Amino acid sequence: MKEKGEKVKLLYCRECKDVVALYVLPRTCLCGKSGGNYIDHRRVVVNGPSIVLGINNNELNDALVGNNNISEFMGFVIPDTSNSVRRSG
Ligand SMILES: [Zn+2]
Repeated sequence: MKEKGEKVKLLYCRECKDVVALYVLPRTCLCGKSGGNYIDHRRVVVNGPSIVLGINNNELNDALVGNNNISEFMGFVIPDTSNSVRRSG
């Protein structure tokens, strides 16, 4: 189901600085002002003072596998203008 190059989307709250992974079921940050969820395999809907972050899944998996060194992976900001982000509030 996970296709190559898939990105994991996270929700960052500008207010409380919490970061939560987005899922099909709605989730909110620590302060409750930001929230969101996936609406299909790729698109998310978010609200509040939030920013959607992305991590390349393959890079993350590579970084997690079997070594004791610090492993870097790429994270990036996904703007509201992206067609994979919808804002409901
Ligand atoms: Zn918050």
